[in-house]
Amino acid sequence: MTSTSASGNVPRIAVYGSINMDLVAYVPVRPASGETVAGTEFRQVPGGKGANQAIAAARAGGDTAFLGAVGDDPFGVQMRSALVDSGVDASELRTVPGASGVAHIVVEGDGANSIIVVPGANAAMTGITGAERTVLAGCDALLLQLELPMEGVVAAARAAREAGVRTVLTPAPARELPDELLDLVDLLVPNQHEAAAVTGEEDPRRALEALLRRVPEAVVTLGGDGSLHGERGGEPVHVPSRPVEAVDTTAAGDTFCGAFAVARAEGRGPEESMEFAAAAAALSVQRQGASTSMPRRAEIEALLA
Ligand code: ATP
Repeated sequence: MTSTSASGNVPRIAVYGSINMDLVAYVPVRPASGETVAGTEFRQVPGGKGANQAIAAARAGGDTAFLGAVGDDPFGVQMRSALVDSGVDASELRTVPGASGVAHIVVEGDGANSIIVVPGANAAMTGITGAERTVLAGCDALLLQLELPMEGVVAAARAAREAGVRTVLTPAPARELPDELLDLVDLLVPNQHEAAAVTGEEDPRRALEALLRRVPEAVVTLGGDGSLHGERGGEPVHVPSRPVEAVDTTAAGDTFCGAFAVARAEGRGPEESMEFAAAAAALSVQRQGASTSMPRRAEIEALLA
């Protein structure tokens, strides 16, 4: 089935965000300073919250363009291909001199991980080019996260506002948000920890109330406890997560956000959009990996049928 927006077209989504090559080493116990240990497995997978959300949105049925930067190295070539293979328009993906962003991830036997992110080419995203503005202007929504320089995120949000495009922000990594950015956000999608970091409120309902004093619409995701939606002047709505056996929850939030943005851009209401997003995320947590675990629209619809 083809997805349709309120205007009768496939919804168009832009993501202005990070893209990294994840270099994942699995070890029984991580090395102490000065120590070398033998790992049991190694995986190299394209990641970064921006690229993950773009892949989630494309697979959920959005006509999705990614705005970001890779280096002029082999990782850059591989990451561009990974986006295209997932159906993401990478025609405005910048290639800049130097290294692509990388995330060195060490996963211990019990699943605990340590991550070093070297931004590389992502650091070039300090503004928005004319060609990127043109892509943005034809979209229904712009998805943003906080893994790029703040000045770039603000510039993209401002360009979206000027073009009448809805802005959707996942405030991750968790931090306080400048007013300059919050004033440009139409929909905020934090998890419980990020909502607490933005508002200072640990309780999700209180955090949601506080968020709605700053933005018109918000969804707080609650892991296995589902998600909580609010709009200014309306009653909060809770949608439970789907009861599934989770094997790897990496990028559950990015899957949820990409799918939710597509459903909203199709003109669906908040509750129906949360159910669509919860189904997408439930499918992803039953599989290993980040972008590799994200479901296609047909699978999401089959689960909802
Ligand atoms: P991540 O950082 O791993 O991307 P997150 O912390 O941003 O995730 P969560 O709040 O953990 O996001 O999860 C997002 C959504 O994914 C939830 O609202 C829920 O719909 C779904 N989800 C997460 N964990 C589970 C689970 N164990 N079972 C079913 N659904 C889940």
